[in-house]
Amino acid sequence: MEENQCIFCKIAGGQVPVEKLADGEIVAFRDLHPQAPTHLLVIPKRHIPTLNDLQPGDEELIGRLFTTAARLAKEAGLAETGYRTVFNCNRDAGQEVFHIHLHVLGGRKMSWPPG
Ligand code: 5GP
Ligand code: ZN
Repeated sequence: MEENQCIFCKIAGGQVPVEKLADGEIVAFRDLHPQAPTHLLVIPKRHIPTLNDLQPGDEELIGRLFTTAARLAKEAGLAETGYRTVFNCNRDAGQEVFHIHLHVLGGRKMSWPPG
């Protein structure tokens, strides 16, 4: 998908308004169809379709996705009880939006392995 058609680029760029929990190189917002009491999406502002498209030099960006996720999980009161972070990559994992996003899910007990 091209960047100008990408819903997460539109959210990051402000063309689609959402409540942003982080708003810089890293953007975070609530999932439209939450799968847990807390379900956040943490994305890079830059359009990267899948984890397969990461390049050398993206390590800091990916690290910042996780530090942002951990900060937001702590602010949501999930640090002690726990939460799950997930990247889905391509068809078998069920990726639907082709702009990488880190799911942060918490507020209920989760099973393992995932379905
Ligand atoms: P994926 O299956 O690609 O890993 O996850 C995509 C996620 O994006 C889904 O959980 C879906 O609910 C969420 N989503 C899709 N479109 C929108 C949208 O327009 N706004 C928000 N906030 N979330 C969205
Ligand atoms: Zn995008």
